[in-house]
Formats: sequence, structure tokens, C-alpha cells
Amino acid sequence: MAGPSEGLLRILSLEQEKNYGDSAVVGGLDSYLLRYLQENGITTSHPLSRVLQALPPGGYRALHKIQRQRVVAELLRAANGGAPVARGREPEAPPPPVPAPPRAPRATARPTRPPAAAPRPVRGNLDSPVTVLGVGKADVTRFGKLRQQVFTVRDLLYYFPRDYHDYSEARKISDLVIDEEQTVIGTVFSSGQKSIGRQRRKATEVIVSDGTGSLRVIWWNQPWVAQRFRQGAKVALSGRVTAFQGRPQMDAPVIEPIDEEMLSSRRRVPIYSSTERLSQLTIRDAVKAALDAFSDSLNDSLPPDMTRRLGFSSVAEAIRQVHFPESADAERAAIDRFAFEELLYIEVGVIRRRRELQEAGGAPRLALPEEVLSGYVGSLPFTLTGSQSSAIDAIVEDLGKETPMNRLLEGDVGSGKTAVAAAALLSAVISGHQGAIMAPTEILAEQHFRTLTTMFDSRTTARDRDGPWFEQRAPGYIALQPEYLERPLGLALLTGSMKQSEKAATVAAIVSGDVDIVVGTHALLQEGVAFSSLGIAVIDEQHRFGVDQRSALREKGSNPHVLVMTATPIPRTLALTVYGDLDITVLREMPPGRPPVKTFRVLPARRDEAFDLARRKIAEGRQAYVICPLVEESSAIEVRAATQEFERLSRDVFPDLRLGLLHGRMSAKDKDATMIAFRDHEIDVLVSTAVVEVGVDVPNATVILIEGAERFGLSQLHQFRGRVRRSSEQAFCFLLTDSPTPENQERLRIMESTDNGFELAEADLAIRGPGEYFGTRQSGMPDLRVASLSNVQMIEAARKEAMLVLERDPELKAPEHRAIAVRVSELWDQVTSEVS
Ligand code: ADP
Ligand code: MG
Repeated sequence: MAGPSEGLLRILSLEQEKNYGDSAVVGGLDSYLLRYLQENGITTSHPLSRVLQALPPGGYRALHKIQRQRVVAELLRAANGGAPVARGREPEAPPPPVPAPPRAPRATARPTRPPAAAPRPVRGNLDSPVTVLGVGKADVTRFGKLRQQVFTVRDLLYYFPRDYHDYSEARKISDLVIDEEQTVIGTVFSSGQKSIGRQRRKATEVIVSDGTGSLRVIWWNQPWVAQRFRQGAKVALSGRVTAFQGRPQMDAPVIEPIDEEMLSSRRRVPIYSSTERLSQLTIRDAVKAALDAFSDSLNDSLPPDMTRRLGFSSVAEAIRQVHFPESADAERAAIDRFAFEELLYIEVGVIRRRRELQEAGGAPRLALPEEVLSGYVGSLPFTLTGSQSSAIDAIVEDLGKETPMNRLLEGDVGSGKTAVAAAALLSAVISGHQGAIMAPTEILAEQHFRTLTTMFDSRTTARDRDGPWFEQRAPGYIALQPEYLERPLGLALLTGSMKQSEKAATVAAIVSGDVDIVVGTHALLQEGVAFSSLGIAVIDEQHRFGVDQRSALREKGSNPHVLVMTATPIPRTLALTVYGDLDITVLREMPPGRPPVKTFRVLPARRDEAFDLARRKIAEGRQAYVICPLVEESSAIEVRAATQEFERLSRDVFPDLRLGLLHGRMSAKDKDATMIAFRDHEIDVLVSTAVVEVGVDVPNATVILIEGAERFGLSQLHQFRGRVRRSSEQAFCFLLTDSPTPENQERLRIMESTDNGFELAEADLAIRGPGEYFGTRQSGMPDLRVASLSNVQMIEAARKEAMLVLERDPELKAPEHRAIAVRVSELWDQVTSEVS
């Protein structure tokens, strides 16, 4: 096997010598390595690639020196470990091209652009295939393969640019800055095929010069590129600039011939998302032809009075400005118009969905008589908070109507949502119907089952039931006798990991109506599960379920009331869109006497202190969680990491304590046994992957140590922290991190400074954007092409207009609303077809 490249070894040892300052090579170690791997055709499974893949998102440069030291050591090991890398020499550098004065351009700059002749008469209409625009056969296929498929003229007109070039902002080659996206205008000096590296990988190399310097441009395996750019052709290049052996380089930039017209008009030029084979110019020409021939036949989807009210231009004008804006302002205004349209369709959709649910009617009227409510409340081991009481009132009022309730109960971790849900379930039972509560994990479902058992039957303590509670549901359910009920209440549990025979017994008891309340996981949604009369469905931690799962539970009854619960605060923008069809109740108060969790960022130097405090608290009889870092690549690695951490802590840190391990690859039964042992204080320290994020309730645990805290979102960290905010004891949360980058530290500092889930959610939303924050697909939102879910003003304006339209014309039957009706159903059908 060949030895490692000397060049690579040299760079790595230089990096060591320079004390890991990422200064051994221009452009940084990771870009060097990436290029190195690419040029030598090194596969992704090679140890070198593995080291690179394991780097956090910010790459090598985001690492602390200590981590860099480890990474370089690993790279050296990988490079020496019989790596099939180039022997002896660095991949050949291009000869430093002398920026020669461009020779008189030979007339070979191929006219990729159709001669600017008078436009041919175009036949057809908006729904004609793009061939009517003169698009060739091969390109038609390519248009159809774009992510947002383009088949017709209309598709093309709505194929918006992903960005614009302003050629007046082009840089001189001598002024290029490494690592930024830039545009250069120059002349092709040379262009040809090369074989690079030991693997002799084919590449196209084009050298472009502009009188101030020369730029090397590389495409891998794309021979046709070279043919398109002959010597002397004037081109514009846009892309990220890297450094190759000290000289600027672009890898696979957007390149196109330019003509004087474009340059002199200084217009903003659109850039479309495209595959290499479908050139910008082809798209642009087709769009131009489409605009010329068909933009005036576009129908405005918005009624004229709305367009006027909002100051929008006509759709034809807006679409011309989107593709070829006259100015940045015109471009903005045009895009706003289309963004508004999208939001309008969303708002019309959610408002209509809300009305449909309400108009469906036929929900069972549920009552919760005063004496039952006060009996229930009086039997609880605590006094309800004001928030809990008013939430119960609002829910009870909803439940008394024939309109099905569709309410979201939002409350920070530990705010006591379960007690509110229990009251709602109780009103179904007292009114002769059934209630169901669905939780996203087995641990959580079983915890709810246990909690409800104690809540409804306060005469026995939880402790009494701990041993045999599992057996007690052998007939399918437990019968409880609350003092305030005249007859026993049947409570059942249904989870996927239960024995087949137990499941069958429970299901039979649900069907027959012997079970009044069932707690379960998505096992509740299985086909065989049918209710005798489902009055209310409660969905806990609703964001863990998809839209289809939520409606599947609803469909287990005939128009039952629905209560969804979440600990994830919902910012206003999302409350208006994603959750626009729900009534929202917020538990703002926390149960009294729970001091905020003291939260600290902990850098490596002070780790021991954090673990010492945990040890002291455990000596006082408390318990602790250790959360292992999030490993996004694979759950197998995550499990391995957690297992190693468990072994290390057992051996080196807490050899005298009782440790437990919890991770996602354990069977539900083992997870459960571990959770129960932790709850019963047979375990002092629970080492866990992110599994415990969701609602497990162990009030005696007052310390949580979160490893690799910088990898989690703020809301998720807050959820973790909520695990230890369950009693009057002072609790502690340590955010262990070895990433000192300012951004990470700043994020973690927010955790230290606020205990308010809402503030954290807003911060999270601002940092990560709505897509990641909520997984918009999960929540059943259509994909937005233009609009952004963070523009509150625009969302509010769209909502207002949507209400006006629906008030005047609920069925959207009027001719001026026909187009809206079509667009709304297109948008929402796409969602329902994708989730089902
Ligand atoms: P969450 O809203 O996170 O689901 P839970 O319903 O699990 O919160 O309640 C958290 C803990 O607080 C439980 O141990 C519960 O018994 C307790 N609790 C709920 N309401 C109150 C209250 N009003 N006063 C004191 N403790 C309460
Ligand atoms: Mg909960």
C-alpha cells in the first residue's frame, strides 16, 4: 500500500508546530483536506474522511486547541494507516498562468446565446410545454428534473430566481477574498482537460484573467464545461473563492458568457437553481421568452380591491420584476407580493379548517358537575395554580358545546398540564363517554398511567401500587373508585411493547366501554382499537406527532373534543399560521415553591467542580442525571458514546455510587425497569441519551449535567432542565461544553440568564428558523417558496385579508375568489398527500 502524501504530512506537522492555530495552510485545514480527498479520489469510508466527517458543523476552525490537537493526531494516524493516498508529491499545481494580454478574441466564443434577432412569434398558452419557447429536447428533460419541476410555461414563470447578480459589484481578481462568495468578470486564458492526483481524476481547468491576476477554476468530471468556454471568451464567474497553494481558486462556480448589453445595462441578473447541465443562460432565455409572450395573460389570483388596498402591482408586472428587477426595491416589492399570496393561502386554509371542524358539530356534550370537579380538585395532593384553574374552566366550557373543542394547552415543563388534562378526561367519564390520552413514548405513557391512577384514587399511595400495578391490568384495565364518583372508573394502558394477550384484553375492554380512560402511545392508533364512545382525545407533547397521527386519534371517535398539549412555547408567528386553527390556552404560572434551577456553563477546566457538587447532593440523598451529547449522524454512535460515558463515570468518577444507563436502543422493558429503579431511588445517577427529554417525573433528582451542551437547541436544553425543577429543593443544571466559540458561549449564556421558556423559544426561533424549530413538515405546513414564517406583520395582514374574504364568501364561490380557492386547495392537498 502506498505511503501517505508527504504534502499532507508536512501540512499536519506544520499545524502542530504552529500550535494548532489553523494557520498551516491558506484557507484553513478543512478546505485543504477536502480538496486533498477529492483530488486523490479518497472514498468517504476512508479513515481520513471519517475524521473529517466527525468534525462539528463549524469544522476544524470551530474547535478548541485541545480538540484540534486530537483531530490532528487522528489525521496523522489515519494518513499513516496505509492510506491509499498519492505518493511522494502533492497533486500538481497549475503552472502559474501569466495573465497575458488577452489576444484578439478568436471568433470561437461559441454563441451559446441565440442571436438577438427579433423574437419569433410564439404560439400556445400558459399551460403549453416549454417547447413552445424554443427549448430544445434535451433541455426540456432537464427542466423536468429540477427540484421544483418545470414543464409548462406557467411553471417556468413561477420558477423564481434563487438570487441575483449585480455585475456592478464584481471584484477584481487581485481583490478577491478567500472564503467568500464573489463575482469576477474576466477573459478565458486557457481551458482544457486535466488528470489530477494519483487517481488521474478527470477535471476541467479554466484559467481566467482580468489584468489584475489570474484565477484557476476547476470542475470535476464535467468535460463539456471546457468546450463551452474557449480562449478569449468573456465570462462572469460566481462562487466561493478558496486558496490553492496560495493562489485563488473557484470550484464549480456559476460561469456564463456575458455580453456587453448585460454589462452596460448593469441590471440585476437572475440566478436560478439549476443543475450544471441546464445553464443559467438557457433558463434565462426561456424565462425571457415566456415573459415576453405570456406574462400578460397571467390572471391575478388576488381580487383587484385587495391588490389596490395593499399597494401591489399587477401579477404580470410583479412577475417581470421578480425575474428581471429594475432595482433592488422593485425586486423586494415584487417578492413581497408573492410572499403575501402564499401567506394568504395558508391563512385561508387554516381559518377554513378551523371553521370546518367547528361546523362539523356533533361533538358529545360533556359536563363536569361542580361537586365532581371540587371532589377531584380536593383530592389532589396540591392546590391548583390560578393558571391551571382557569385552563380547566375554559376547557369545561368548550366541552359543554356541540362544537368540538380544538384547543392547545401550552405550558412550560413542570407547569402541571397533566392535572388539567385529567379534569378534561374526567368530564368525559362523568358524562358517559370515554377519554384517551396519547403520549409519544412508552415511558411517558406509563408515567401518565401511574399519575392518573394516583390522581383518581388518592386513598392508596403510589407506593402501594408500585409492585403489582403491572399485573393489575391483566384483565385489561384497573378499576378505581374515586370518592366523588358513584361508580368505579376503568383506567387502561395500551403500549406497543405490551404482551399480545394483554393488548387484546385492553382493546376488548375499550371497545366494550369497560374502560373509561385509556392512556397509550401511538399503539392507540392501530386498526383494531375502537372506542365505544370517545368523548375527548388528549395528545401530549403534540409536536412529537405528525398531523396525520393527530387526526387519526380524532377519527377514533365521531367528532370528539381534542386537547393537544405542548411544553414548547409557540411564538406568535407560528400561533398565527401553523397553529392558526387552534384555540390556545397558556399556563403562565408555575406551581409555587419551586426555585428556578441554578444554571452554569462549565468549560473543561472546571468540570470537576460540577461533578463534585453532584456528588455532594447525592450524599444528601438527591439524585442526578448525566445527559450525553447529541450525536446526529447515527443513533448507534450515540449509544456507544453513552455506554462509554457510563463506564467511565462508573469507573473513574462515581465508583461508589449506583449508576444506571438509559438509551434509545434498549428494549422498552429495560428502559422501563431503569426508569422505575431511578424513580425508586435504587439508582443515584442516571446516564442517558436524549431519551429522557420528554416529561419523565422524578422529583428527587435535583442535579442535571449536560455533556456537549452546545449541540442542543435552547428549547431542548430547557426541557432537560425541566427534569430537575420538580420540587422545592434548589436544583442545579450544568451545561458542560468544550467549545469556547463566541456563538456557542453566547447561546449557553442565554440559558444561564433566563428560566423563561418563552424567551428561550423566541431566541431559538431566531437562531434556527421555523423549519428546524418545529419541523414544519411535521406540523402540517405547506412548503413555502417565497414567504417566511418570521414576518409577523405580513402574516397578520394576510390573516386579516383572509378573514375578510371568508366572511364575505365562505365557500369562495365568487368569481374573484375562484383563483384563491384553487390555490388554497393546491397548497393544502400537497400537504395532506405528503403526510398520508
Ligand atoms: P407538565 O406540564 O410538564 O406535564 P406535570 O403535569 O408532569 O407537568 O407536573 C409536574 C409536577 O408538578 C408533577 O409532579 C405534579 O404532581 C406537580 N404539580 C402539578 N400541579 C401542581 C400544583 N398546582 N402545585 C404543586 N405541584 C403541582
Ligand atoms: Mg407532561
